[in-house]
Amino acid sequence: MSRFVRTPPPEARGLGMTSQRARDRLIERLVAEGIRDQRVLGVLRQLPRHLFIDEALATRAYEDTALPIGQGQTISQPYVVARMTELLIENGVPRRVLEIGTGSGYQCAVLSSLVEQVFTVERIDELLRNARRRFRKLGMSNIRSRHDDGRLGWPDEAPFDAILVTAAGADLENALLDQLAPQGVLVAPVGPPGRQELLRVCRDADGAWQRETVAAVSFVPLLGGVA
Ligand code: SAH
Repeated sequence: MSRFVRTPPPEARGLGMTSQRARDRLIERLVAEGIRDQRVLGVLRQLPRHLFIDEALATRAYEDTALPIGQGQTISQPYVVARMTELLIENGVPRRVLEIGTGSGYQCAVLSSLVEQVFTVERIDELLRNARRRFRKLGMSNIRSRHDDGRLGWPDEAPFDAILVTAAGADLENALLDQLAPQGVLVAPVGPPGRQELLRVCRDADGAWQRETVAAVSFVPLLGGVA
């Protein structure tokens, strides 16, 4: 269950293909695919993913698939969102989390329901504006967002207990590794299209980084500059 009680807007309920039943079926599928964390499953069961995509695609919101959100970008597949969130909170729920690549805002909204404060950075202004509107509509007041090149992190707010990157760079960004607190955890896809791997990096109490490869994944590229 979500830590934060909010009153959802009426359209969050959904109908037919966007109803609670459709959401419940998605959750069953995620469980069958190996998602185990009840906190993550609880949040995905509640969260209206159909409000994070264009209305024309809303009927597909509870399919376990990535969908276009404009500007050549995608909302991540629910399984990937669930798995990355599981990896991030497995060894304790972090307090302050940095997300790189706000996109639709869906992954950020999942984090917002689980942790105290989320910081999110997006390089495409139009996507960020849409995401902010969704956060306001859903009453998510523990999210701070910024239009910038997320490869630089958010130095003024560092260090973070956890960092989640939702676009794939050629390698891990040093700025992000530096902004991870001791005992912190970073989850990020790394590598060229077709050969990307999901990495989890845990920073130990002495500040050293331990990296592990978790899975093969497919993300949009982490790009430089802003748009
Ligand atoms: N977390 C998003 C996933 C969106 S796809 C969601 O749940 O919908 C990845 C996003 O990363 C895209 O919106 C893309 O514009 C953004 N992105 C790519 N490179 C970036 C960078 N350097 N800084 C910030 N955002 C970036």
